[in-house]
Order: sequence, then structure tokens, then C-alpha cells
Amino acid sequence: MELSVTDIATSQASLENLMGHDRLALEEYFASLGEKPFRATQVLKWVHQQGVYDFSEMTNLSKNLRLKLASQVSFTLPEIINDQASEDGTRKWLLRLEDGNSIEAVFIPEAGRGTLCVSSQVGCALNCSFCATARQGFNRNLTSAEIVGQLRLANQLLVRPDNERPVTNVVMMGMGEPMLNYDNVVQAMRLMQEDFAYGLSKRRVTLSTSGLLPEMQRLSKECPVSLAVSLHAPDDELRNELVPINRKYPIQELMHACREYTKGLPHQKITFEYVMLAGVNDSDAQARKLAKVIGNVPCKLNLIPFNPFKGSGYSSSSLTRINHFRDILMQKGIMTVTRKTRGDEIDAACGQLAGKFTDRTRRTERLQQVTLTGEIH
Ligand code: SAH
Repeated sequence: MELSVTDIATSQASLENLMGHDRLALEEYFASLGEKPFRATQVLKWVHQQGVYDFSEMTNLSKNLRLKLASQVSFTLPEIINDQASEDGTRKWLLRLEDGNSIEAVFIPEAGRGTLCVSSQVGCALNCSFCATARQGFNRNLTSAEIVGQLRLANQLLVRPDNERPVTNVVMMGMGEPMLNYDNVVQAMRLMQEDFAYGLSKRRVTLSTSGLLPEMQRLSKECPVSLAVSLHAPDDELRNELVPINRKYPIQELMHACREYTKGLPHQKITFEYVMLAGVNDSDAQARKLAKVIGNVPCKLNLIPFNPFKGSGYSSSSLTRINHFRDILMQKGIMTVTRKTRGDEIDAACGQLAGKFTDRTRRTERLQQVTLTGEIH
């Protein structure tokens, strides 16, 4: 009997995708097959280090095991539907997920390192007033497979002649609030740090949050990666407006949680992010107030020029204003950096990541197209 395209699509979809399984989860899976734990590390290396997803090529597994795996599970990546490169080397990928939704991931090369900005949700529920992702509303959490899949794809697409891994740092600063998808994000970050997978140290994995206190507490115990906190205002009145979650977790409590976070991590500093909005949060008085607010937290401060998008209602502070703001903070002893905007012409900057929501009808359309051309891409 010949399989139709729909049959193939359905049978692939029914295989459990193990792309997001960390070592522990894979060991449990192999134990359930009566296999030894070291199978997990063998498979981790094939998939995450070699980019081999086809079990028949995993030559250190027995033939029987390979066949069994192929009948039960898969290692599947999101599909690349757009790949843009900016003049400064920044790359942005639009990725289609199995349910037809799409997300974006951005690679930013710098001297001696390559940073991948990873999305954690389709859309975002937090409604920060200056962020393009917020305008989409919230659709769903990404699975750990979809989160780690962004890193796997980037390493695969950016192969270097010296075989060094192109992505040396990951920042969870793409679409979504990672703390609201805690379990999947933590599982994905464990894989990022796993020696048999990507081997990134906890300093090279950064989670950016708008400040969800209970999850910050959990993270410091369970997976203490570097933490960035999106502050954007020196007082509750303004922050309530810019970052509405502030009404639930106001600034003083947030600062306390930040201090607690760094206690578990000697030499570790919180990175505060502060988007510079002309005439909103960029005055000298606000700079002095900010220095007082964050002065008791071991921290550094990143000033981010606002990246405009249609209908935002904001504009960025001028570079002169940003640098003056920086000087005030530096004089007060706060290590402050003005962040360069990267990937401008491809809308790859902070807060500009959009992706697209589609429903299953789009997928049906695509499958029909596939049937017509007889190819599966
Ligand atoms: N939800 C998380 C992570 C995603 S946003 C968080 O809030 O931290 C990543 C960073 O980009 C945050 O600091 C966010 O405030 C900032 N950002 C959002 N929109 C922006 C814009 N239009 N211009 C500049 N930075 C923006």
C-alpha cells in the first residue's frame, strides 16, 4: 500500500519528538526500553553535537535499537521559512512550528563570540507598552524541543571552517516571557549546559525577565544561569505603565529578589535592561533616581536605544541623551553600557521580533501544495 502525504505527515507527527529531552529525561526513556543510561549520552552527541537525526546513521547503537527508536520517536526541528542576513552579520530566522505558528530567532556575531537570541513563547502575555511582540497577544508556550531546536538550527546553519561552534552564548531575549514557560525553558537551558550537548557554561546562558519573583527564586536554586531584568523605569508609577507586571511585583520587591539571586552566585551580577524612550524615562533626574534604586544590587546596566515599530507611539532618546544618562549613572558607580542596535534593516532588534500566528488551515493548505508538487520540504 502506498502512503499518502497526509499519512506520512500523521505518522511523523505521532512519533514523540525528543529534541528537547535533557540527559535525565533521555536516560529515563532508555531505561523504559531496558537500555543502559549511556545510550542517552551517545544519542545526545549524535543529535546535538553532530547534527545527525536519522537513527540509521547512529552507528554505535545496535541495529535493533535503531529500528525500535525509529518506530517510536524522532528528533525534529522547526522548519525555516525565512532566512535574512543584515550587513553587520546579524541573521534572523523565521521558523514555522508544527502547528503552523511561527517564531523568530536572531544570531548576533561579535568579536570572539556569537550570541543567539532565542524565543520562549509564541507571542507574549505581559503587554509591555513599547514591545512589538506584545501587540500580538499570547498564543502558546514553546516546548523544550522548540526552544532548543532554535540553537540546534543555528549551529547547523552557521558551520564554521574551523569547526568551532558558532553559538557561544544564548540569551532568552526573543519573543515571550521565559519565566511564564518555566519548566520547558529550564529543561532547554539544561540541554544548553549539558557537556554531551552544547556545553555552555551558566555564565553564557542568560535568561531575561520582566521580573517574576517566585520564578526568580526557583531559578536561583534549580538552574542558576545569568539573569537580565527588564527594568525600564526608576519608579513604580512609570514602570506600572511601561511594564504592567510591575503592579504585581513592584520595584522594591524586585530589587530584593535580585539581591537574593546574586547571593547564590558569587561574582555574578544582574544585568538591568533599560530601553531609552525620548521624554519618558530618560531625564537626568530619572538617571539619579535609577542609580539609587539599583545601587544596592550587584549589577551592570544596559541602555537600549528604543527600536521603533509601526504605531508604537514612542521614539528613541538621541545618542547624546543616552550617553549623558550613562555618564550620570557611571558617576554614581554603576557600570553602564549603551547597547548598539544590531540588524536594523531586517527588524532583528530587541522588541521587534514578531513571527506570525496561523491556524491549522494554513497547514492544510501547505500539505495540499505538497501533494500537488509531490515533494515534502
Ligand atoms: N520578556 C522578557 C524577554 C523578552 S524582551 C523580558 O521582558 O525581559 C527582551 C528585551 O528587549 C527586554 O529587555 C525588553 O524590554 C526589550 N525590548 C522590548 N521591546 C523593545 C523595543 N521596542 N526596543 C528596545 N528594546 C525592547
